[in-house]
Amino acid sequence: MITLNNIVKIYKTGDIELKALAGVNLSIAKGEFVSIMGPSGSGKSTMMNILGCLDTATFGEYFLDGVNINDTSEDELADIRNRKIGFIFQSFNLLPRTTALENVELPMLYKGINLRKRREKALKALEAVGLSERIDHKPNELSGGQQQRVAIARSLVNNPVILMADEPTGNLDSKSTLEIMAIFQQLNAIGITIILVTHEPDVAKYSQRIIHFKDGVIDEDEIVQHRSLAE
Ligand code: ADP
Ligand code: ADP
Repeated sequence: MITLNNIVKIYKTGDIELKALAGVNLSIAKGEFVSIMGPSGSGKSTMMNILGCLDTATFGEYFLDGVNINDTSEDELADIRNRKIGFIFQSFNLLPRTTALENVELPMLYKGINLRKRREKALKALEAVGLSERIDHKPNELSGGQQQRVAIARSLVNNPVILMADEPTGNLDSKSTLEIMAIFQQLNAIGITIILVTHEPDVAKYSQRIIHFKDGVIDEDEIVQHRSLAE
């Protein structure tokens, strides 16, 4: 599903060039659950921005579902992001004065889907993350773990094939962290590819594969022994 060939990313700031990625070769198959780890500055965010079609490489090839991302216009990239990719962030990024249900409906509103269909899909997504009892709560009436579950539900309503999560458990206690990882494992079990950036070995161990970045290249590609969090 994902193939990267010799991806290089150079940031130019005035006269200064900085090589954030220095030749990354990587394949991720449909249905994998991958963690990306590495020290600060090793290129993880840059890699996620490229994988998520938020930015493009300076050199190298990126194929996503057979599409050559390097040859793709801004508009097509936006379309690919909307259709294929769900994004989850450390800070949840929910609208504060809006209920859980309305937050989850929002991406469908932008797409012009009618109210009945929006509601139906949002309720289903909230059920999938175990939040059916909290649909009328606003973010400040929910725990951090519950807010992140709302954000995951919101990412699901466009039926993404890939979920990209940047430190999704960075603001959560260990109990909520395990709940979120259990949800990722369930979503992965129904075929969604998951790519997660984390600093925490105790989070990464619930994925299937850990890609370690160092100085803009892959330092180690590690297969993880399966640890199920299923109840
Ligand atoms: P990580 O996510 O592993 O901390 P990043 O991908 O954020 O690493 O950064 C890799 C390198 O690229 C760092 O040296 C960082 O300062 C630099 N960098 C990242 N984004 C930019 C940018 N937009 N402009 C200039 N330099 C950047
Ligand atoms: P993270 O904590 O995820 O590693 P960073 O602190 O590396 O994130 O970067 C946060 C944001 O700032 C990213 O969008 C990155 O592209 C940008 N950034 C990082 N380093 C630089 C830099 N040296 N110059 C400009 N932008 C940067």
